Amino acid sequence: MTVRSISVLGATGSIGASTLDLVRREKGNWRVVALTANSNAAALAALAREFSAEVAVIADAARLPELRDALAGSGIAALGGAEGLIEAASRPADITVAGIVGCAGLAPTMAAIEQGGMIALANKEALVSAGEVMTAAVARHGATLLPIDSEHNAIFQCLAANDLASVRWITLTASGGPFRDWPMERLITATPAEAVKHPNWDMGAKISVDSATMFNKGLELIEAAHLFPVGLDRLRIIVHPQSIVHSMVEYRDGSTLAQLGPSDMRVPIASALAWPARMDTPCDPLDLAAIGELTFRAPDETRFPATRLAREAAEAGGAAPAVLNAANEIAVEAFLAGQIGFTRIAAYVADVLSCYAPSAPTSLDDVVAVDAEARRRARSLMELA
Ligand code: NAD
Ligand code: MG
Repeated sequence: MTVRSISVLGATGSIGASTLDLVRREKGNWRVVALTANSNAAALAALAREFSAEVAVIADAARLPELRDALAGSGIAALGGAEGLIEAASRPADITVAGIVGCAGLAPTMAAIEQGGMIALANKEALVSAGEVMTAAVARHGATLLPIDSEHNAIFQCLAANDLASVRWITLTASGGPFRDWPMERLITATPAEAVKHPNWDMGAKISVDSATMFNKGLELIEAAHLFPVGLDRLRIIVHPQSIVHSMVEYRDGSTLAQLGPSDMRVPIASALAWPARMDTPCDPLDLAAIGELTFRAPDETRFPATRLAREAAEAGGAAPAVLNAANEIAVEAFLAGQIGFTRIAAYVADVLSCYAPSAPTSLDDVVAVDAEARRRARSLMELA
Protein backbone atom coordinates (compact mmCIF):
# COMPACT_ATOMS: atom_id res chain seq x y z
CA MET A 1 0.00 0.00 0.00
CA THR A 2 1.26 3.46 -0.83
CA VAL A 3 1.60 5.93 2.02
CA ARG A 4 -1.25 8.44 2.07
CA SER A 5 -1.27 11.84 3.69
CA ILE A 6 -4.01 12.88 6.12
CA SER A 7 -5.01 16.01 8.04
CA VAL A 8 -7.40 15.85 10.98
CA LEU A 9 -9.30 19.03 11.79
CA GLY A 10 -10.61 18.62 15.34
CA ALA A 11 -7.98 16.02 16.28
CA THR A 12 -8.67 16.19 20.03
CA GLY A 13 -12.41 15.50 19.73
CA SER A 14 -14.42 12.31 19.58
CA ILE A 15 -14.22 12.03 15.75
CA GLY A 16 -10.53 12.99 15.89
CA ALA A 17 -9.82 10.27 18.46
CA SER A 18 -11.65 7.60 16.43
CA THR A 19 -9.79 8.64 13.27
CA LEU A 20 -6.38 8.69 14.92
CA ASP A 21 -7.08 5.32 16.53
CA LEU A 22 -7.42 3.85 13.02
CA VAL A 23 -4.32 5.68 11.77
CA ARG A 24 -2.35 4.49 14.84
CA ARG A 25 -3.10 0.85 13.94
CA GLU A 26 -1.62 1.30 10.44
CA LYS A 27 0.95 3.97 11.11
CA GLY A 28 3.21 2.90 8.26
CA ASN A 29 0.43 3.60 5.74
CA TRP A 30 -0.09 7.23 6.75
CA ARG A 31 1.77 10.52 6.81
CA VAL A 32 0.07 13.04 9.09
CA VAL A 33 0.08 16.60 7.75
CA ALA A 34 -2.02 18.83 10.04
CA LEU A 35 -3.67 18.23 13.41
CA THR A 36 -5.85 20.94 14.96
CA ALA A 37 -7.65 21.62 18.24
CA ASN A 38 -9.62 24.42 19.83
CA SER A 39 -7.83 25.08 23.13
CA ASN A 40 -6.21 21.97 24.60
CA ALA A 41 -2.57 22.66 23.66
CA ALA A 42 -1.13 19.83 25.76
CA ALA A 43 -3.38 17.16 24.19
CA LEU A 44 -2.73 18.54 20.70
CA ALA A 45 1.05 18.61 21.20
CA ALA A 46 1.01 15.02 22.47
CA LEU A 47 -0.88 13.86 19.35
CA ALA A 48 1.36 15.90 17.04
CA ARG A 49 4.45 14.29 18.56
CA GLU A 50 2.95 10.79 18.53
CA PHE A 51 2.01 11.05 14.84
CA SER A 52 5.00 13.20 13.78
CA ALA A 53 2.62 15.75 12.26
CA GLU A 54 3.97 18.44 9.97
CA VAL A 55 1.97 21.17 11.69
CA ALA A 56 -0.23 21.57 14.78
CA VAL A 57 -2.79 24.37 15.05
CA ILE A 58 -4.54 25.71 18.12
CA ALA A 59 -7.63 27.76 17.24
CA ASP A 60 -7.46 29.73 20.47
CA ALA A 61 -4.46 31.93 19.58
CA ALA A 62 -3.88 32.79 23.26
CA ARG A 63 -2.73 29.17 23.70
CA LEU A 64 -0.14 29.34 20.91
CA PRO A 65 2.83 30.04 23.26
CA GLU A 66 1.85 26.95 25.28
CA LEU A 67 1.68 24.86 22.08
CA ARG A 68 5.07 26.19 20.93
CA ASP A 69 6.66 25.28 24.28
CA ALA A 70 5.13 21.82 24.19
CA LEU A 71 6.48 21.24 20.66
CA ALA A 72 9.93 22.76 21.26
CA GLY A 73 12.69 20.72 19.63
CA SER A 74 10.24 18.46 17.75
CA GLY A 75 10.54 20.19 14.37
CA ILE A 76 6.71 20.34 14.22
CA ALA A 77 5.38 23.75 13.16
CA ALA A 78 2.93 25.43 15.56
CA LEU A 79 0.23 27.80 14.34
CA GLY A 80 -2.69 29.55 16.02
CA GLY A 81 -6.00 31.29 15.36
CA ALA A 82 -8.42 31.23 12.45
CA GLU A 83 -5.67 32.01 9.92
CA GLY A 84 -3.54 29.19 11.28
CA LEU A 85 -6.43 26.75 10.80
CA ILE A 86 -6.88 27.86 7.21
CA GLU A 87 -3.18 27.73 6.46
CA ALA A 88 -2.92 24.19 7.81
CA ALA A 89 -6.12 23.00 6.08
CA SER A 90 -4.71 24.37 2.80
CA ARG A 91 -1.62 22.16 2.95
CA PRO A 92 -1.91 19.37 0.42
CA ALA A 93 -3.26 16.12 1.91
CA ASP A 94 -4.80 13.10 0.22
CA ILE A 95 -7.64 13.14 2.76
CA THR A 96 -8.81 15.70 5.30
CA VAL A 97 -11.08 14.66 8.13
CA ALA A 98 -13.42 17.57 8.91
CA GLY A 99 -14.05 16.84 12.60
CA ILE A 100 -14.44 20.30 14.12
CA VAL A 101 -17.80 20.83 15.82
CA GLY A 102 -20.09 23.61 14.64
CA CYS A 103 -19.91 26.32 12.03
CA ALA A 104 -16.41 27.07 13.39
CA GLY A 105 -15.28 24.26 11.09
CA LEU A 106 -16.65 25.85 7.93
CA ALA A 107 -13.74 28.06 6.83
CA PRO A 108 -11.02 25.40 7.34
CA THR A 109 -13.20 22.76 5.63
CA MET A 110 -13.69 25.10 2.68
CA ALA A 111 -9.92 25.70 2.57
CA ALA A 112 -9.38 21.93 2.37
CA ILE A 113 -12.05 21.62 -0.35
CA GLU A 114 -10.19 24.26 -2.39
CA GLN A 115 -7.19 21.91 -2.53
CA GLY A 116 -9.35 19.43 -4.46
CA GLY A 117 -8.61 16.32 -2.39
CA MET A 118 -10.88 14.00 -0.44
CA ILE A 119 -12.81 15.45 2.46
CA ALA A 120 -14.15 12.99 5.04
CA LEU A 121 -16.96 15.08 6.44
CA ALA A 122 -18.18 14.71 10.03
CA ASN A 123 -18.72 18.44 10.57
CA LYS A 124 -22.37 18.49 9.42
CA GLU A 125 -22.96 22.05 10.70
CA ALA A 126 -20.54 23.35 8.03
CA LEU A 127 -22.49 21.72 5.19
CA VAL A 128 -25.87 22.67 6.68
CA SER A 129 -24.84 26.33 6.96
CA ALA A 130 -23.02 26.68 3.67
CA GLY A 131 -25.23 24.35 1.59
CA GLU A 132 -24.81 25.12 -2.11
CA VAL A 133 -21.82 27.37 -1.39
CA MET A 134 -19.98 24.26 -0.23
CA THR A 135 -21.32 21.80 -2.82
CA ALA A 136 -20.48 24.28 -5.59
CA ALA A 137 -16.91 24.62 -4.24
CA VAL A 138 -16.60 20.82 -4.15
CA ALA A 139 -17.61 20.66 -7.82
CA ARG A 140 -15.46 23.64 -8.85
CA HIS A 141 -12.30 22.30 -7.23
CA GLY A 142 -12.85 18.65 -8.13
CA ALA A 143 -12.88 17.63 -4.46
CA THR A 144 -14.61 14.47 -3.20
CA LEU A 145 -16.92 14.65 -0.19
CA LEU A 146 -17.01 11.35 1.68
CA PRO A 147 -19.58 11.44 4.47
CA ILE A 148 -18.55 9.91 7.80
CA ASP A 149 -21.68 10.82 9.68
CA SER A 150 -22.87 7.23 10.18
CA GLU A 151 -26.25 7.67 8.45
CA HIS A 152 -24.77 9.42 5.42
CA ASN A 153 -21.94 6.97 5.19
CA ALA A 154 -24.56 4.19 5.22
CA ILE A 155 -26.54 5.89 2.44
CA PHE A 156 -23.34 6.50 0.44
CA GLN A 157 -22.59 2.78 0.67
CA CYS A 158 -26.18 1.77 -0.20
CA LEU A 159 -26.13 4.07 -3.25
CA ALA A 160 -22.88 2.69 -4.68
CA ALA A 161 -23.18 2.26 -8.44
CA ASN A 162 -26.91 3.08 -8.40
CA ASP A 163 -28.59 5.95 -10.16
CA LEU A 164 -30.19 8.62 -7.91
CA ALA A 165 -33.10 8.69 -10.36
CA SER A 166 -33.99 5.12 -9.30
CA VAL A 167 -34.26 6.04 -5.62
CA ARG A 168 -37.78 6.02 -4.15
CA TRP A 169 -36.87 6.83 -0.55
CA ILE A 170 -33.83 7.52 1.55
CA THR A 171 -34.57 6.71 5.18
CA LEU A 172 -32.35 8.14 7.90
CA THR A 173 -32.45 6.15 11.11
CA ALA A 174 -32.40 7.95 14.47
CA SER A 175 -31.73 6.38 17.86
CA GLY A 176 -34.22 8.83 19.35
CA GLY A 177 -31.61 9.85 21.95
CA PRO A 178 -31.69 9.41 25.72
CA PHE A 179 -35.16 10.98 26.11
CA ARG A 180 -37.03 9.15 23.36
CA ASP A 181 -39.52 7.65 25.84
CA TRP A 182 -39.80 10.64 28.15
CA PRO A 183 -43.19 12.40 28.39
CA MET A 184 -43.31 16.15 27.78
CA GLU A 185 -43.58 16.99 31.51
CA ARG A 186 -40.31 15.22 32.17
CA LEU A 187 -38.53 16.69 29.11
CA ILE A 188 -38.98 20.15 30.62
CA THR A 189 -36.82 19.06 33.58
CA ALA A 190 -34.06 17.35 31.54
CA THR A 191 -30.55 18.35 32.69
CA PRO A 192 -27.33 18.71 30.67
CA ALA A 193 -25.85 15.66 32.46
CA GLU A 194 -28.86 13.57 31.38
CA ALA A 195 -28.75 14.93 27.83
CA VAL A 196 -25.09 14.11 27.18
CA LYS A 197 -25.52 10.47 28.27
CA HIS A 198 -26.37 8.91 24.94
CA PRO A 199 -27.65 5.33 25.15
CA ASN A 200 -25.69 3.97 22.15
CA TRP A 201 -22.95 6.38 21.04
CA ASP A 202 -20.03 8.04 22.82
CA MET A 203 -19.80 11.52 21.27
CA GLY A 204 -18.93 15.17 21.98
CA ALA A 205 -21.29 17.22 24.18
CA LYS A 206 -22.86 19.30 21.39
CA ILE A 207 -23.92 16.40 19.16
CA SER A 208 -25.11 14.49 22.23
CA VAL A 209 -27.51 17.33 23.09
CA ASP A 210 -28.50 17.47 19.41
CA SER A 211 -29.34 13.77 19.58
CA ALA A 212 -31.49 14.37 22.65
CA THR A 213 -33.45 17.21 20.99
CA MET A 214 -33.48 15.46 17.56
CA PHE A 215 -31.78 18.54 16.05
CA ASN A 216 -29.04 16.11 15.10
CA LYS A 217 -31.49 14.30 12.83
CA GLY A 218 -32.82 17.63 11.57
CA LEU A 219 -29.30 18.75 10.65
CA GLU A 220 -28.73 15.34 9.07
CA LEU A 221 -31.86 15.69 6.96
CA ILE A 222 -30.43 18.93 5.50
CA GLU A 223 -26.99 17.31 5.18
CA ALA A 224 -28.57 14.41 3.25
CA ALA A 225 -30.47 16.79 0.96
CA HIS A 226 -27.11 18.28 -0.15
CA LEU A 227 -25.15 15.03 -0.35
CA PHE A 228 -27.87 12.99 -2.09
CA PRO A 229 -30.05 15.39 -4.12
CA VAL A 230 -33.11 13.18 -4.61
CA GLY A 231 -35.49 15.92 -3.40
CA LEU A 232 -36.61 16.61 0.17
CA ASP A 233 -39.87 14.74 -0.33
CA ARG A 234 -37.88 11.52 -0.77
CA LEU A 235 -36.04 11.86 2.54
CA ARG A 236 -37.60 10.29 5.62
CA ILE A 237 -36.66 9.72 9.24
CA ILE A 238 -37.43 6.64 11.31
CA VAL A 239 -36.63 6.00 14.96
CA HIS A 240 -34.56 2.84 15.45
CA PRO A 241 -33.50 2.62 19.11
CA GLN A 242 -30.80 -0.05 18.63
CA SER A 243 -28.66 2.07 16.19
CA ILE A 244 -27.66 -1.01 14.19
CA VAL A 245 -29.27 -0.15 10.84
CA HIS A 246 -27.50 3.12 10.07
CA SER A 247 -29.82 4.14 7.19
CA MET A 248 -31.54 2.70 4.13
CA VAL A 249 -32.20 3.35 0.46
CA GLU A 250 -35.34 2.04 -1.22
CA TYR A 251 -35.28 1.75 -5.02
CA ARG A 252 -38.10 1.99 -7.55
CA ASP A 253 -38.27 -1.80 -7.88
CA GLY A 254 -39.10 -2.16 -4.17
CA SER A 255 -35.62 -3.27 -3.09
CA THR A 256 -34.36 -1.68 0.12
CA LEU A 257 -30.63 -1.69 0.82
CA ALA A 258 -29.47 -0.99 4.35
CA GLN A 259 -26.06 -0.72 5.96
CA LEU A 260 -25.70 -2.35 9.38
CA GLY A 261 -22.86 -2.19 11.86
CA PRO A 262 -21.91 -1.66 15.48
CA SER A 263 -22.50 1.79 17.02
CA ASP A 264 -18.85 2.71 16.65
CA MET A 265 -17.78 5.66 14.51
CA ARG A 266 -14.59 3.85 13.54
CA VAL A 267 -16.67 1.81 11.06
CA PRO A 268 -17.92 4.74 8.92
CA ILE A 269 -14.59 6.56 9.36
CA ALA A 270 -12.71 3.49 8.11
CA SER A 271 -15.08 3.24 5.17
CA ALA A 272 -14.14 6.80 4.16
CA LEU A 273 -10.41 6.48 4.91
CA ALA A 274 -10.07 3.37 2.75
CA TRP A 275 -12.66 4.26 0.10
CA PRO A 276 -13.15 2.74 -2.44
CA ALA A 277 -11.27 -0.15 -0.80
CA ARG A 278 -11.79 -1.48 2.74
CA MET A 279 -9.56 -1.54 5.81
CA ASP A 280 -9.61 -3.43 9.12
CA THR A 281 -11.18 -1.98 12.25
CA PRO A 282 -10.87 -3.36 15.78
CA CYS A 283 -14.68 -3.33 16.21
CA ASP A 284 -16.43 -6.52 17.32
CA PRO A 285 -18.31 -8.28 14.53
CA LEU A 286 -22.05 -7.67 14.50
CA ASP A 287 -23.80 -10.35 16.57
CA LEU A 288 -27.43 -10.08 15.48
CA ALA A 289 -28.50 -13.13 17.47
CA ALA A 290 -27.24 -11.45 20.65
CA ILE A 291 -28.96 -8.17 19.70
CA GLY A 292 -32.14 -10.15 19.09
CA GLU A 293 -34.50 -7.43 17.93
CA LEU A 294 -34.29 -4.47 15.60
CA THR A 295 -37.29 -2.18 16.08
CA PHE A 296 -38.57 0.89 14.23
CA ARG A 297 -41.15 3.57 14.93
CA ALA A 298 -42.26 6.92 13.56
CA PRO A 299 -40.68 10.04 15.07
CA ASP A 300 -42.83 12.15 17.43
CA GLU A 301 -42.59 15.76 16.25
CA THR A 302 -44.80 17.02 19.07
CA ARG A 303 -42.29 16.18 21.78
CA PHE A 304 -39.33 16.69 19.40
CA PRO A 305 -40.15 19.52 16.95
CA ALA A 306 -36.55 19.82 15.71
CA THR A 307 -36.97 17.60 12.67
CA ARG A 308 -40.02 19.59 11.57
CA LEU A 309 -38.13 22.88 12.01
CA ALA A 310 -35.21 21.51 10.00
CA ARG A 311 -37.45 20.27 7.20
CA GLU A 312 -39.15 23.68 7.04
CA ALA A 313 -35.75 25.42 6.94
CA ALA A 314 -34.60 23.08 4.17
CA GLU A 315 -37.79 23.77 2.21
CA ALA A 316 -37.34 27.54 2.68
CA GLY A 317 -33.72 27.15 1.52
CA GLY A 318 -31.42 30.16 1.17
CA ALA A 319 -30.10 31.30 4.54
CA ALA A 320 -32.71 29.46 6.66
CA PRO A 321 -30.58 26.35 7.37
CA ALA A 322 -27.63 28.55 8.44
CA VAL A 323 -29.95 30.52 10.76
CA LEU A 324 -31.39 27.30 12.20
CA ASN A 325 -27.91 25.92 12.79
CA ALA A 326 -26.53 29.09 14.39
CA ALA A 327 -29.55 29.48 16.69
CA ASN A 328 -29.26 25.84 17.71
CA GLU A 329 -25.53 26.19 18.46
CA ILE A 330 -26.24 29.13 20.78
CA ALA A 331 -29.22 27.41 22.40
CA VAL A 332 -27.19 24.23 23.03
CA GLU A 333 -24.36 26.29 24.61
CA ALA A 334 -26.91 28.06 26.80
CA PHE A 335 -28.54 24.76 27.79
CA LEU A 336 -25.16 23.19 28.64
CA ALA A 337 -24.34 26.29 30.72
CA GLY A 338 -27.60 25.89 32.66
CA GLN A 339 -29.05 29.12 31.25
CA ILE A 340 -32.10 27.71 29.45
CA GLY A 341 -34.26 24.62 29.85
CA PHE A 342 -34.12 21.64 27.49
CA THR A 343 -37.43 22.24 25.70
CA ARG A 344 -36.52 25.93 25.20
CA ILE A 345 -33.79 24.92 22.72
CA ALA A 346 -36.27 24.18 19.92
CA ALA A 347 -38.52 27.06 21.00
CA TYR A 348 -35.68 29.58 20.66
CA VAL A 349 -34.57 28.15 17.32
CA ALA A 350 -38.14 28.59 16.03
CA ASP A 351 -38.19 32.18 17.36
CA VAL A 352 -34.91 33.12 15.68
CA LEU A 353 -36.08 31.57 12.40
CA SER A 354 -39.29 33.57 12.50
CA CYS A 355 -37.59 36.93 13.22
CA TYR A 356 -34.55 36.75 10.93
CA ALA A 357 -34.78 35.88 7.23
CA PRO A 358 -31.68 37.16 5.40
CA SER A 359 -31.19 36.68 1.68
CA ALA A 360 -29.53 33.54 0.34
CA PRO A 361 -25.76 33.45 0.86
CA THR A 362 -23.71 33.11 -2.31
CA SER A 363 -20.18 33.09 -0.84
CA LEU A 364 -18.34 31.86 2.22
CA ASP A 365 -18.27 35.44 3.55
CA ASP A 366 -22.06 35.65 3.19
CA VAL A 367 -22.54 32.41 5.14
CA VAL A 368 -20.19 33.61 7.90
CA ALA A 369 -22.12 36.91 8.10
CA VAL A 370 -25.52 35.14 8.30
CA ASP A 371 -24.15 32.82 10.97
CA ALA A 372 -22.76 35.72 13.05
CA GLU A 373 -25.97 37.75 12.86
CA ALA A 374 -28.18 34.74 13.70
CA ARG A 375 -25.97 34.06 16.74
CA ARG A 376 -26.30 37.67 17.84
CA ARG A 377 -30.09 37.52 17.50
CA ALA A 378 -30.29 34.20 19.31
CA ARG A 379 -28.23 35.57 22.22
CA SER A 380 -30.38 38.66 22.41
CA LEU A 381 -33.65 36.63 22.38
CA MET A 382 -32.26 34.43 25.14
CA GLU A 383 -31.11 37.55 26.98
CA LEU A 384 -27.55 36.22 27.13
CA ALA A 385 -24.53 38.51 27.21
P1 NAD B 1 -16.00 17.09 20.05
O1 NAD B 1 -16.54 18.19 20.86
O2 NAD B 1 -15.65 15.80 20.71
O3 NAD B 1 -14.69 17.59 19.26
C1 NAD B 1 -14.69 18.77 18.53
C2 NAD B 1 -13.29 19.10 18.00
O4 NAD B 1 -13.37 20.39 17.39
C3 NAD B 1 -12.22 19.17 19.08
O5 NAD B 1 -10.97 18.78 18.53
C4 NAD B 1 -12.19 20.65 19.42
O6 NAD B 1 -10.93 21.05 19.96
C5 NAD B 1 -12.46 21.29 18.07
N1 NAD B 1 -13.13 22.58 18.17
C6 NAD B 1 -14.21 22.89 18.95
N2 NAD B 1 -14.54 24.18 18.79
C7 NAD B 1 -13.68 24.70 17.90
C8 NAD B 1 -13.51 26.00 17.35
N3 NAD B 1 -14.29 27.04 17.71
N4 NAD B 1 -12.50 26.19 16.46
C9 NAD B 1 -11.68 25.17 16.13
N5 NAD B 1 -11.80 23.92 16.62
C10 NAD B 1 -12.78 23.69 17.50
O7 NAD B 1 -17.05 16.84 18.87
P2 NAD B 1 -17.31 15.51 18.04
O8 NAD B 1 -18.34 14.70 18.73
O9 NAD B 1 -16.02 14.87 17.66
O10 NAD B 1 -18.02 16.09 16.74
C11 NAD B 1 -17.30 16.73 15.70
C12 NAD B 1 -18.22 16.88 14.50
O11 NAD B 1 -18.52 15.58 14.01
C13 NAD B 1 -19.55 17.55 14.81
O12 NAD B 1 -19.94 18.31 13.71
C14 NAD B 1 -20.50 16.39 14.97
O13 NAD B 1 -21.83 16.71 14.66
C15 NAD B 1 -19.93 15.40 13.96
N6 NAD B 1 -20.23 14.00 14.25
C16 NAD B 1 -19.77 13.44 15.39
C17 NAD B 1 -20.06 12.11 15.68
C18 NAD B 1 -19.51 11.46 16.92
O14 NAD B 1 -19.72 10.26 17.11
N7 NAD B 1 -18.82 12.15 17.80
C19 NAD B 1 -20.85 11.37 14.80
C20 NAD B 1 -21.30 11.97 13.63
C21 NAD B 1 -20.98 13.29 13.36
MG1 MG C 1 -25.24 10.79 12.51
